[in-house]
Amino acid sequence: MLGAMQDWELRVSLLIDHAAREHGSREIVTSWADGSETRTDWSGIRRDALKMVQALQRLGIGKGDRVATLAMNHSRHLVTWYGATGAGGVLHTINPRLFDDQLDYIANHAEDRILIYDAAFQPIVDRMRDRWTTIEHYVCFDAADHAPAFEDWIGAEDGDADWVQGSERDPCMLCYTSGTTGHPKGVLFEHRSNMLHTYAALMPQCLDLDARASVLPVVPMFHANNWGFPWAAAAVGAKLVYCSSNAAETLCRLIRQEDVNYVAGVPTVWLSLLQHVDATGQEMPPITKALTGGSAMPRAIIERLMASGIRIAHAWGMTETSPIATIAFEPANFDSLSFDEQVTIKARQGTALFGVELRTVDLDDPAKVLPRDGKSAGALQVRGPWVIKRYFKADKDATDAEQWFDTGDVALLHPDGTLQLTDRTKDVIKSGGEWISSVELENAAVAHPAVAEAAAIGVYHPKWDERPILVVVRKPGMAVTGEELLGLLAQKVAKWWLPDAVEFVDEIPHTGTGKISKKDLRDQFRTYRLAE
Ligand code: AMP
Repeated sequence: MLGAMQDWELRVSLLIDHAAREHGSREIVTSWADGSETRTDWSGIRRDALKMVQALQRLGIGKGDRVATLAMNHSRHLVTWYGATGAGGVLHTINPRLFDDQLDYIANHAEDRILIYDAAFQPIVDRMRDRWTTIEHYVCFDAADHAPAFEDWIGAEDGDADWVQGSERDPCMLCYTSGTTGHPKGVLFEHRSNMLHTYAALMPQCLDLDARASVLPVVPMFHANNWGFPWAAAAVGAKLVYCSSNAAETLCRLIRQEDVNYVAGVPTVWLSLLQHVDATGQEMPPITKALTGGSAMPRAIIERLMASGIRIAHAWGMTETSPIATIAFEPANFDSLSFDEQVTIKARQGTALFGVELRTVDLDDPAKVLPRDGKSAGALQVRGPWVIKRYFKADKDATDAEQWFDTGDVALLHPDGTLQLTDRTKDVIKSGGEWISSVELENAAVAHPAVAEAAAIGVYHPKWDERPILVVVRKPGMAVTGEELLGLLAQKVAKWWLPDAVEFVDEIPHTGTGKISKKDLRDQFRTYRLAE
């Protein structure tokens, strides 16, 4: 027997229909790279998305076809989210910071049929065009010099169209993750997984978005489903403010001008905002909510933001989890805790969002599930309806028989269910058979005001196999010695965790997604020898 409720497939076009119907005049603002600004609203996004459906159909692009974008954050990019998916296609957001070989691989692997790109990325298009063998059409978001301009392309249509219908299990987005080894892997989101993620993300103890929110998502639209903002903001009619630049000065100006009360960004965005505020002697812009994630949020930044009255949500997730899986929000007893205890809660990665299950297993024996005792660090596994089952075109599932997906993160779970990440599986430092958390060493080091960036890696040691060293980039014009840093770390971590050496460098290598590349750093220090 089936239930007796109505037949609605959960497809993302429902979101834009709702946004246009119930919050049609709520603004979407874009600050472009040339300094100009444009304004549209949710009705305008829907109208343009329907025109895009027609423009795609005119090119014979429809169900299941991959529509690629190579673009920063702006309202036209938002139109493609609803236009490509509304045409029954799969929006493939390409990260322009990837290396050429990765760009080559993913566009061909995805079999993209059309690429819509920012004029700023014309050099990438010129370089890659001959290598991209499946792309038949090019459209440029903001100029008509080398390809039709987006506004002209969709402007030729009248918007009198319908969304393509289908199953909620149809794919709607494709996003590649670049691991440290091998080719990038494609994560294929479904209409249903995005809709369920949206419902969950809207909870007060997650994104906590509502119609009064004026949101500046600094997280790029090409990264990890843009943390779900294009979908969730439509559901509640939040205002979206996009900025093509991440420069702190521009962000601060825009926050004030557009009454932004909600900012979402990785920890480095928060760091640069605070540095800008300090350097200019300004007051912190009047934000009330902050979402962060993508890498561990240093305690020092959390303290500063909380002291400014900002409510912080610290999320953990990955492209493979759509991306939000856990979130650090206020537990029932939060108000009775000291400031320090409250910061500790926000510095961890939070608890599982309803819909997601977590567990940790022994690093050497994955059959052994570890207790939630706040001590046993193991491989973090996750499952749920918006967690990956199989990478795009892979011939086998990425999960075990019970659908557990191994995240590649090392973590411990506390008795209250709180997740605390300690490492990536590939980055753990094992000294004399015991694990040392590189993340804790790094967090302690970046608390020093002269440290711009720090990375702890294991290097060969004749007696202990591996010992940690700390690689540090100083802030321009600031001084700090290795002894000072070790003294600071000694207050935070066990003595045997203390790095055997501190090395100062001008730059630490990063991956295409802007994270520290421990693999490249280990390669740089391959021949490094510690004294016995
Ligand atoms: P990506 O798929 O590029 O978003 O990367 C996902 C990875 O980023 C995770 O597997 C973690 O290693 C890391 N990550 C995400 N959020 C956090 C967080 N809040 N704290 C520490 N690491 C994080």
